[in-house]
Amino acid sequence: MATGHAGAPSFFETVNIYFEKAAALCDYPRGLLDQIKVPNAVYAVQFPIRRENGDYEVISGWRVQHSHHRLPVKGGIRFAPEVNEDEVKALAALMTYKCAIVDVPFGGAKGGVAIDTKKYTVDEIQLITRRYTSELIKKNFIGPGVDVPAPDYGTGAREMAWIADTYMTFNPGQIDALACVTGKPVTQGGVRGRVEATGRGIYYGLREACASAEDMKPLGLTTGLAGKRVVVQGLGNVGYHAAKFCEQAGCVIVALAERNGAVHRAQGLDVDAVAAHLKETGSLLNFPGAENLVPTHAALELDCDILIPAALENQITAENAPRIKAKILAEGANGPTTAEGERILLSRGVLIIPDVYLNAGGVTVSYFEWIKNLSHVRFGRVGKRFEEASFERVVNAIEQKTGHRFSDEERRAIVHGADEIDLVNSGLEETMIAAYHQIRDIRKADARVTDLRTAAFVSAVRKVADAYRELGVFP
Ligand code: NAD
Repeated sequence: MATGHAGAPSFFETVNIYFEKAAALCDYPRGLLDQIKVPNAVYAVQFPIRRENGDYEVISGWRVQHSHHRLPVKGGIRFAPEVNEDEVKALAALMTYKCAIVDVPFGGAKGGVAIDTKKYTVDEIQLITRRYTSELIKKNFIGPGVDVPAPDYGTGAREMAWIADTYMTFNPGQIDALACVTGKPVTQGGVRGRVEATGRGIYYGLREACASAEDMKPLGLTTGLAGKRVVVQGLGNVGYHAAKFCEQAGCVIVALAERNGAVHRAQGLDVDAVAAHLKETGSLLNFPGAENLVPTHAALELDCDILIPAALENQITAENAPRIKAKILAEGANGPTTAEGERILLSRGVLIIPDVYLNAGGVTVSYFEWIKNLSHVRFGRVGKRFEEASFERVVNAIEQKTGHRFSDEERRAIVHGADEIDLVNSGLEETMIAAYHQIRDIRKADARVTDLRTAAFVSAVRKVADAYRELGVFP
């Protein structure tokens, strides 16, 4: 069962270590804490596919619904060769806590299919995605009010569109069917801003953390993101967008790491140019003007202010934690730090901004997509012109009263009514800021809470426990 090194706790056990650390600081009955901890339903499925060369192959998949205290449950679907039940349970549990921390009204879930996507054609991946979806449908493990998947490692908008189409095929006429999955292409009921939401949320979280002089001082850092040296591991959806938003905020991206190697440039890398190089050559290595780092793990140990692991779990362990020089660890990936790795970093005074909070931007905007699908109207469509006309009247009145005319540019900026993307980004920003202060306040209020992860878990335990208490036990 263990997914870590021999004797080390598995991923799910690690999540439970974090949970227990927080639970010990809360005053809830043991049985209630156990009910929160356990996955409520675990579905393991094996199904055949027919490959293009005529061979049959058996594929293993899972869907774990961790907590039914709110419905639907929500969580991404991961396609990766090493996916296993323990990992999916861990990720589902993290979703429960994450949704609670950012006040997204869902229980936690996660799905996984054990495949190496590089070994299949696009048509074969479509076949696997649709068959997996139909297995979820058979057991009522997908639906707008039941369980709503989203993208995760190895999946994206393309797979979400196939899932939606498969679900709609089996549920003809169900008016809310599109809300059965989020992270869809905008042209298929997706919401603008979902693709970059997790990275943007990481940026908002980091910006908030770095705004406090009181919190930066012990790290020997000044406030603000500008000038901070950042290393990002994983240049996929989360890593690319996190790097991009940090770069736009004035950070110096000193290294980017991918599977087969990393590139380092102390004066900073151009994120888009590196991403284009990766797309073109299949590797980050030999990016002009940068130093190659092989093996790729060396990037984690570079001198920097902020390290953003945004690839997979178990990257920062007891083995490499003593050599990590970053002052802030911003967890973009789920579970990048083992419990032992965390203990070492905390003892060295590193500020860890935990995954359960920091990468919640994705599920937050997924929540907005779900609302959009249920309301059947794009955010901003109904009110935008009315808003603009009202602003226009205010601007005209100011001009009349003052005798001063605004420039066309000023007028456009003031009169602009909110589009879908404006509202999505505004909702995401508000969510990340509010949740950050909730967990920071928990940390400040209780001397026993010495780190942000424990504070985040305390926030989650309280919210989920209170929900269970209010609901009572059936029958
Ligand atoms: P992705 O598939 O888009 O990208 C992951 C990238 O990491 C890939 O480019 C891959 O090549 C790279 N990678 C794999 N192993 C690596 C290694 N050892 N060193 C360096 N790079 C490596 O996946 P994603 O959606 O960006 O997800 C990344 C992490 O973020 C996962 O832990 C996922 O659970 C988490 N996450 C994703 C979302 C989301 O909205 N997509 C939301 C919250 C959390």
